[in-house]
Amino acid sequence: MKEMNVLVINCGSSSLKFQLINSVSEEVIAKGLCERIGIDGSQMSYTPAGGEKRETVTPMPDHTQAIRLVLDALTGQEGGVVKSLAEIGAVGHRIVHGGENFATSTVITEDVLKAIEECNDLAPLHNPANLIGIRACRELMPDTPMVAVFDTAFHQTMPEEAYLYGLPYHYYEDYKVRRYGFHGTSHSYVSHRAAEMLGKEYEGLKAIVCHLGNGASVSAVKGGKCVDTSMGLTPLEGLIMGTRSGDLDPAIIEFLCNKENKTVKEILNVLNKESGVFGLSGGFSSDFRDLEKAYRAGDAFAIRAMKAFAYRVAKYIGAYTAAMNGVDVICFTAGIGENNPLIRTMIGEYLGYLGITIDEEANAKRGEETEISTPESTTKVLVVPTNEELAIARETVALV
Ligand code: ADP
Repeated sequence: MKEMNVLVINCGSSSLKFQLINSVSEEVIAKGLCERIGIDGSQMSYTPAGGEKRETVTPMPDHTQAIRLVLDALTGQEGGVVKSLAEIGAVGHRIVHGGENFATSTVITEDVLKAIEECNDLAPLHNPANLIGIRACRELMPDTPMVAVFDTAFHQTMPEEAYLYGLPYHYYEDYKVRRYGFHGTSHSYVSHRAAEMLGKEYEGLKAIVCHLGNGASVSAVKGGKCVDTSMGLTPLEGLIMGTRSGDLDPAIIEFLCNKENKTVKEILNVLNKESGVFGLSGGFSSDFRDLEKAYRAGDAFAIRAMKAFAYRVAKYIGAYTAAMNGVDVICFTAGIGENNPLIRTMIGEYLGYLGITIDEEANAKRGEETEISTPESTTKVLVVPTNEELAIARETVALV
């Protein structure tokens, strides 16, 4: 592995997260976040390894200015971690939607930028922001190689029967309406890590990965390839999430438009931002720390929301066990999957038919790689903390 510092960039419409990672030690040398880009009160937080976190409120009218400030912080006299930009060997950009154009990560060229732009329609909130981030970076670091790492790429191995909707086929041909899936970098990283933890060949493993964060998705990985995943054309499909509804009867949309006198757009906003466990808990919270506390205090709203969340995950595990004709390992990852023993127990209660018993002592741990099934369990259950930035850095170094 070549030694270099890789800048990993995750650019949203008004935010930009970054990490500088050394490719050999895989240590995070510095990290931070720019928020409210293009809005009043822009601010940046920056933390060099072993140093104090610094917060600065400073105008960032656009992403180019945000990246300029990031590069200044990384190379600065005070708190800087590299002497000059020449010490940043490559940049890895997280891109949300690669459509069918990208089944792997790729070195960014003008043609690649055009192909990403073609996918804008599929992710109108995310892809344009990702592209702005790339263009701003290329302007300031024209000679540094850059790589695009797609959320959708890992799922491109899904077979047709898994990715097609039951719609007129020409909608797929004409508009590429199909299931794509997201969180691919995480599903790939976690399934690989699970094989390592079990000392098994990745290519011989049947794994189900439950990425349970604010956004949540499940994937079935058979023989090293994703064969199904719960998110679809957009991240709205699948599990009940923090504020997203997940699967529902599409006829509900028209029904609610009529009842509430709202437009489709307004109802979709409800499905994205006011539903999920937030909606089910009567608007109490989308955060599982709050929900867990309230659940333990016997709060009926929190109990309802968490039960529905766990049940939906268990249903997907059942479906994916069928899709793969069996399962060797189930992995929990992301904020909730890594840190919420209660939800893991609640899901585990549905899995007795797979020969699974949860070891409650092991399950009490938060945020560490742990086998949480008992040694007798015939299907293993693991907690595997995800690390999307590291996965992006590895992909980037491998390609430049
Ligand atoms: P996303 O990246 O999709 O925004 P995360 O993966 O950060 O979301 O997950 C957010 C969820 O994880 C929240 O519901 C939060 O309660 C839970 N979570 C994150 N960290 C912890 C922690 N240390 N302890 C308990 N719960 C946590």
